[in-house]
Amino acid sequence: MSNPFQNIFNAQQANQFQVAKANYKQRIAKLEALKQAIEVDYKQAIRDALYADFKKPFIETDLTEIYPVVSEIKYVKSNLKRWMAKQKVKTPMALLGTRSWFMYEPKGVCLIISPWNFPLNLTFGPLVSAIAAGNTVILKPSELTPNIAKVMAKIIEALFSKDEIALIQGDVAVSEALLELPFNHIFFTGSPQVGKIVMQAASRHLTSVTLELGGKSPTVIDESANLKEAARRIAWGKFLNNGQICVSPDYVLIHEGVKTEFITELKSVIQEFYGEEAMRSSAYCRIVNDKHVNRLTHYIQDAKTLGATIECGGDFNADERFFAPTIVSKLPDEALLLQDEIFGPILPVKSYGKIEEAIDYINGKSKPLALYIYSKNKKQIQQIISATRAGSTCINSNILQYSNHNLPFGGSNTSGIGKSHGIFGFQEFSNQRSVLKQYGNGTISLLFPPYNSFKQKLIDFTIKWF
Ligand code: NAD
Repeated sequence: MSNPFQNIFNAQQANQFQVAKANYKQRIAKLEALKQAIEVDYKQAIRDALYADFKKPFIETDLTEIYPVVSEIKYVKSNLKRWMAKQKVKTPMALLGTRSWFMYEPKGVCLIISPWNFPLNLTFGPLVSAIAAGNTVILKPSELTPNIAKVMAKIIEALFSKDEIALIQGDVAVSEALLELPFNHIFFTGSPQVGKIVMQAASRHLTSVTLELGGKSPTVIDESANLKEAARRIAWGKFLNNGQICVSPDYVLIHEGVKTEFITELKSVIQEFYGEEAMRSSAYCRIVNDKHVNRLTHYIQDAKTLGATIECGGDFNADERFFAPTIVSKLPDEALLLQDEIFGPILPVKSYGKIEEAIDYINGKSKPLALYIYSKNKKQIQQIISATRAGSTCINSNILQYSNHNLPFGGSNTSGIGKSHGIFGFQEFSNQRSVLKQYGNGTISLLFPPYNSFKQKLIDFTIKWF
């Protein structure tokens, strides 16, 4: 049976060189149009759609969906001319008589598959990099947030022809059909499990991939940390978007001497942020669907069965898809909350005696997307960083590392392959094409056959000195 998306793919393939020709001003004009749509024309529609999808507060939509895409566009605008310019490089002595440079050429026809947790940001964010790099793109947003998917489809249809950028709505079957096509690059954001499926499909065509995945991101709090500050920042990072964030602090590893005080601080911040009843708070959003509510309730049930302490929360309202801000302590290692990525408003707190125990615990799991450290002890901070591996680290805060365009964003192995944001996103959607130009005869002609003892001396000399 023929692929339902073959025609659209063929149209983009035929158009890719035309799209690639766009100079930096033309690419910026496309990005400006996208910015105007998000920031002004469709702003309220975006807010309403995300509210309908999972009761996301308007301020959080502005902060975590609209702002990151708009600021990425602004950043690209001030740098694209430089990124697109020929990048001259030095010439080694042995290549005298040549000049070299490289330039970024578009990969070609790209596929962007995105998740539901920041559906606009994680669809249009990579799109900004893909447009900046001069590609054609097919976008496949998540089926779990259908209202925002519809608004994004409208924006794309209004701004681009299908042979340049097309958005296809649909579920896993749509994703699978798209993955059969020989794209030049696939940018996938989602779970490590689906990341493996994407990479396997890409391997059939040797398509390059960027995989922005997830996993368990630990937070270490040592005995020197400012606990009040840590509690405020962690409460914000954990309960923002209801904990449905790839770089959410998944669990806390805290020095045993300060654990009780930290939990007390955290409980009081939760009350301050969301009131006595978080369900009534306008600052607290919802779990995306019933399946995920059930998953989280199962984690709590499992924790209780294993004798853990629910320090606060644990309650839910399935009809409302509400899950209370929850802190759990005294969990045995086999508890599901310490095994799976939580992706919800539950924070396990686990204590350690010596910092080496915390380090070993982290290294006993897959490489995290983010590792957070709260400490005033510079030596200890350095020790944790150098003894562990992670996609990114934030010291005395969380989540914010995502927002600096000058930093590469992404994971390592199970938490991801490749980087996004700023120049790193632009590079991901580009091929670095190198060019060497010879002028005159160049030194290499001295080594052309037939070979003789003089040429042998010349190569010996070259190996020794250049
Ligand atoms: P998911 O992997 O279930 O789905 C992501 C996308 O893949 C969706 O568009 C979906 O339709 C598609 N998909 C699902 N199953 C598929 C299959 N079998 N074959 C082909 N396509 C398939 O992820 P999710 O539940 O939407 O998002 C949550 C996950 O994403 C978490 O693990 C989280 O950590 C991760 N995430 C990572 C980042 C990052 O930047 N690293 C950002 C957000 C979310």
